[in-house]
Amino acid sequence: MATPDVDVVVIGAGMAGTTAARGLADAGLQVAIVESQDRIGGRIFTDHDFAGLPVEQGAEFIHTDHAETLPLAEAAGLDLLFCNPADGYIMQIAGASGPELYADPSLLKLGNVLDDVAGYAGPEQTAGEFLAARHLTGAAWAMADQMLSIHPLGDLHELGMHGLRDDRVVELERGIDHRVAAGYDELPKWLARDLDVRLGWRVAEVRWAPASVTVVRDDAEEITARAVVCTLPIGVLKSNSVRFTPDLPATKWRALNGLEMGAAMKILLRFDEPFWPDDLTMLAVDGPVRLYWTSLYGRVDAPAVLCAYVTGFRARALSVLSDDAAAAVCLADLERIFPGSSASAHLQASKRIDWLTNPDTRGAYSFVRLGGAGSRAALAAPDTGSLFWAGDGSATETIASVVHGAHVTGKRAAAEVLAHLS
Ligand SMILES: Cc1cc2nc3c(=O)[nH]c(=O)nc-3n(C[C@H](O)[C@H](O)[C@H](O)COP(=O)(O)OP(=O)(O)OC[C@H]3O[C@@H](n4cnc5c(N)ncnc54)[C@H](O)[C@@H]3O)c2cc1C
Repeated sequence: MATPDVDVVVIGAGMAGTTAARGLADAGLQVAIVESQDRIGGRIFTDHDFAGLPVEQGAEFIHTDHAETLPLAEAAGLDLLFCNPADGYIMQIAGASGPELYADPSLLKLGNVLDDVAGYAGPEQTAGEFLAARHLTGAAWAMADQMLSIHPLGDLHELGMHGLRDDRVVELERGIDHRVAAGYDELPKWLARDLDVRLGWRVAEVRWAPASVTVVRDDAEEITARAVVCTLPIGVLKSNSVRFTPDLPATKWRALNGLEMGAAMKILLRFDEPFWPDDLTMLAVDGPVRLYWTSLYGRVDAPAVLCAYVTGFRARALSVLSDDAAAAVCLADLERIFPGSSASAHLQASKRIDWLTNPDTRGAYSFVRLGGAGSRAALAAPDTGSLFWAGDGSATETIASVVHGAHVTGKRAAAEVLAHLS
């Protein structure tokens, strides 16, 4: 084979790609990151203009106090803003909140849903079937639904219990969170500092063989390398918009079939003044939006910004509306939750970020479908010669589908490539 252009090509400049490239470059290899978009970060996408302070359009929190990205943020010299979701948390179901909600008799049957998911040892079934067996109604049903299907993004009839357990998403319900004060995108940008990052470089084909690989751009430009790390999101892989030559083995297609990219969108709403309690962190409700939060919580003299976080079938429903119509749904919802607030009259600006229709992700983050347990490990397996796998869809060692999960997969893939090349 002719001398390759570089040692390793990393596809994607998100958290997994920048982590893998950093590890490989630090080990002395010549690495190129190719990225279809014109920015670094992928699903970490900070808006620095909407409110004059960083507001997150994609990933927002460093979840839990043991995330692998916490020491990384410290090494990068990034200040963090602490946000314990247990503080300033309001849940409102069917108009009831606080003591009135928690005295609801339906809650007697709720039990400890999170413990039961974490220790689930029963047969594979959907999360909907798991909950149906508890005969929950009213507020208890709404709370259980909220616990199980806000973070995995799948709807109850799609989520498999084994995957839900293995993905450890219940840890998110108990975790404490941080935001990166300067914007989450500072983290992948710091990892990618001084690396060869080729933005606007959309991969159309990956030709892979045991000891070499050629990555082909959509305009036919090629880069040859001794190995490649693929961090393409599950939605992109499943769409066939990137061709693999030869085709991926059945193990990989089975793995992709066991995973699904869930829908999520954020609608950012900036108001001239807040009409919610000063200490509000999260507002969990039961309308067209199930979660609102205060994007600029913990900042001094910050503009009044709410983020409507919409997932699953609710996100798909809002996805077909215009930006203004989707914002109007949120405003009407907020006027229902805060009667007399005249939310619409106070609105200064809104912005919708729809990850479902984004061609570079084709969804927000992945969940394990019914019967799909083990798919993440099968995708991660280094069983495709010079082609290695990272990205949140292949996360097995941490909570799946989070930034620190993607980070750990990048480290793993870098170690695999180093072993392969040596
Ligand atoms: C709305 C939303 C909220 C979230 N909130 C949180 C949160 O609070 N905390 C948390 O930890 N996680 C959160 N996540 C999940 C987190 O963002 C992801 O798990 C993580 O960022 C994934 O990183 P990655 O590197 O695996 O993938 P990505 O960041 O998607 O990187 C893959 C890259 O590949 C690029 N690409 C795609 N196609 C091509 C192509 N053909 N050629 C070249 N490049 C291509 C993409 O542009 C992208 O940059 C959230 C995600 C979303 C969408």
